[in-house]
Amino acid sequence: MVFEAIPGGPMDRWADATDPAKHLEVSLSILRDFVPWEYERCANISLTDDGGVLTGRFPPTVRKPVVTLPGGGKVLGLADVVVLNDPITGQGSNNASKCAASYLKSIVEHGDRPYDEEFMRAAFETFWDEAQFPTIWTNALLGPPPDHVLQLLGAAGEEPRIAHRFANDFDDPQDFFEWFMDPDKAATYLADLAKS
Ligand SMILES: Cc1cc2nc3c(=O)[nH]c(=O)nc-3n(C[C@H](O)[C@H](O)[C@H](O)COP(=O)(O)OP(=O)(O)OC[C@H]3O[C@@H](n4cnc5c(N)ncnc54)[C@H](O)[C@@H]3O)c2cc1C
Repeated sequence: MVFEAIPGGPMDRWADATDPAKHLEVSLSILRDFVPWEYERCANISLTDDGGVLTGRFPPTVRKPVVTLPGGGKVLGLADVVVLNDPITGQGSNNASKCAASYLKSIVEHGDRPYDEEFMRAAFETFWDEAQFPTIWTNALLGPPPDHVLQLLGAAGEEPRIAHRFANDFDDPQDFFEWFMDPDKAATYLADLAKS
């Protein structure tokens, strides 16, 4: 089970989860209070083992990509170290893989020239051209959904083309910026669908 609570909100009970047994109690209390039909299914559950719990909180962060080690060497960060998104949209492993592929392409294209700080910054910027979209989209989903998003999600329940586009865009969140992130584009998209 994975729970994501708004800090200080009614599901943020994790300060009480001081050991694995209490962690399970807190988890069950959340099921009982918010999704009781799931709570009924969990009447007899137990932890897989005493280490089977994890609690944490962190702010989504985009970092400067290059650090200087005490000895003067430069290091280029990769994946979560440089672009850390909330898991809410399941983009972290995608980003990590895409970052590796992007850096590899930059390295191959760079050939025999020096792999200095300038190269490292450029390699990150090339990756960021792509990574900014899942980042902005993920951050947007952390807040309350605006009206046009509620309208789109409601319409997706009736119109499979919207549902398919929503699901497929997890692979390439840049497309969300064509119909989901902007109220005017959302209205145009819904109007076009209604005509076809
Ligand atoms: C609760 C949760 C749910 C998630 N759900 C999803 C999901 O559904 N879909 C998705 O795509 N992503 C998800 N993610 C995000 C995903 O797990 C990460 O984005 C991804 O693992 C990042 O890959 P990475 O290689 O950057 O870092 P990591 O996978 O964290 O790898 C870093 C590795 O470095 C090791 N390490 C650290 N310090 C040192 C050191 N000093 N020396 C040697 N080794 C070291 C660590 O032990 C670790 O193995 C989730 C994350 C969390 C926390």
